[in-house]
Amino acid sequence: MENVIIILLCLAGFIVVAFLVAVINAIRIKGSYKEPKEFRLGIDDINSQLHASHLARMIQVPSVSIRDSNDFSQIKKMHKVLEELYPNIHNRLEKIDIDGALLFKWRGKSSKALPILLMSHMDVVEATGSWKFSPFSGKISDGKIWGRGAVDTKGALCAILEAVEHLVSINYVPSCDVYIASSNNEEITGDGAVKTVEYLYKQGIRFDLVMDEGGAVMCGTMGINEPSAMVGIVEKGRANVKFIAHSSGGHASIPFNNNPFAQLSKVVSELDRKPPFKKKLTKPVKRMYKAMSPYLSFKYRLVLGNLWLFGGILPAVCSKMGGQAAALVQSTCVFTMAEGSSGANVIPETATCTANVRFILHENEEKTLNKLKKVADKYNVEMEKISGYDICPTADTNTYAYKQVLKQIKETFGDIPIVPYVMLAGTDSRHYTKICDCVIRFVPLIFSEEQQKSAHAINENLDVSSLSRGVTFYVDFIKNYGK
Ligand SMILES: [Zn+2]
Repeated sequence: MENVIIILLCLAGFIVVAFLVAVINAIRIKGSYKEPKEFRLGIDDINSQLHASHLARMIQVPSVSIRDSNDFSQIKKMHKVLEELYPNIHNRLEKIDIDGALLFKWRGKSSKALPILLMSHMDVVEATGSWKFSPFSGKISDGKIWGRGAVDTKGALCAILEAVEHLVSINYVPSCDVYIASSNNEEITGDGAVKTVEYLYKQGIRFDLVMDEGGAVMCGTMGINEPSAMVGIVEKGRANVKFIAHSSGGHASIPFNNNPFAQLSKVVSELDRKPPFKKKLTKPVKRMYKAMSPYLSFKYRLVLGNLWLFGGILPAVCSKMGGQAAALVQSTCVFTMAEGSSGANVIPETATCTANVRFILHENEEKTLNKLKKVADKYNVEMEKISGYDICPTADTNTYAYKQVLKQIKETFGDIPIVPYVMLAGTDSRHYTKICDCVIRFVPLIFSEEQQKSAHAINENLDVSSLSRGVTFYVDFIKNYGK
C-alpha cells in the first residue's frame, strides 16, 4: 500500500514539474511583435505606379479558365499583353510556348550551376457577385490595384516579370540560368505545368530551386496576428472519389428497404462519424508548430511550444477540433456532390455521391483509398477514383536554395516570423518535385487578412506598395543568388 502511495506521489510530482516546465517554456519562447520593415520607394529605380499600371493591364484580360472549353483567345490575348509590357524579356530571353503555357530561359554566367525557376500562373477563376469595382477593370484606387487575379496570382507574375525586365534592360547577367514559367490552366488543374515539366525533364534539366504561389507575407493567418512569411514546403495530395450504389429501381409508391441512397448514406454517415484515418503529427507539421508557437496566444503557445509534453495527445485533439487543425494531422474526405434518378417519384437504379479526398504524408493515396474502400465494401457500395494525384515530396530545406529564400525574406521584409508550412490546397508546383528537390510555395507579397480572403471571392485587390516590394524582392534575390 505504502509503495502505491509513493508511486502515485512521484507521478503527481512529475506531472506538476512537467507542467511547470511547459509554462516556463511558453513564457520564455514568446516572440515580440515585428512589423515588416519600412519600404521606401525609389530604391533600385523602382517605379510603383508603372508596376501598378502593368498589373492593371494584365487584370484587364479576363483569362478565366473554364473546364472543357476550347476557347483560348483570352490566353492568347494575355501573351500579347505580356509581349507589349515586357519587350526585353521577349526579345532577349529564350521563349517557349507550350500549348499556351509560357517558359522563358535567361542564360546566366555559368551553365554548370543548377538553374532556378520562378513561376506563377496566368489564368484566373471566374468573377461573380457584386464587386466594388468591375472585376476586370484593373482599377487603381486607394493605393490598391483591384480585380480578379490581383492576389491569385497575376500580382506575383507581374512582380517576377518586372524584376527580370528591369535586370535584362540594364544588361545584368545572373550567376546561374533563370527560368520563368507561367501556366495557362492552373485553376482547372490543367496540363500547362505538366507539359512544361515534361519538356524540361526531357531536356534533362534539374533545378536548384522552384518558387511558386502558395504562401506569402500574411497577416492574421493560422492564429498569428502579426505579418508572417508563410513558406509552403509541402502540399497535400488529392482525389475525387465516386461512391456508387445500385438497386432494381422502381416507382416511389412501392418502396423497398436499403435503396441506393440509404446504402450511400450509411457510408457517408460512418465516414463522417468515424473517419478511419490515422492521426499523426508529421515532421513538417511539428516544424510548422515550432515556428508559429512564439507568436500565438498563451494557451496555444503552451501546447504547441511544448510538443515534447503534448505531442502525444495533440493529433487526437486536433482531429476533434475539425477544420484546419484536423486537416493537418490526417487525410480528409468531404462529400460534395450527389446524383440519383431524374424524377422525384423514381427510385434510382444507380445513385452516386462524390467526395473530395486529401492525402497526408503518413497516409498516402493508396493507404487512404484502401481505408475508404473498406467502409464502402461493408455496405455493398462500389468506389471509383475519378481523378487525383498522390502527395508530393516535401521540399529539402537543408539546401542553399531554401536558406537563400529565408535570407531574402529577412532582407526585404525585416525580422518577421518565418513559418515553413504544410499547404492544404494544391498548386502547379507539385509537378516540379520531379525535377527539383527544393520546391517552395511563397510569393514575396504582403496580403492583409481581407486580401487573402478575396482570392476566388469578390473585391480581390493588392496594395501598390506590396507589388513594388515584391519586385525588389525578386531583383535582389536574383542578384544575390549564387554569390
Ligand atoms: Zn492560384
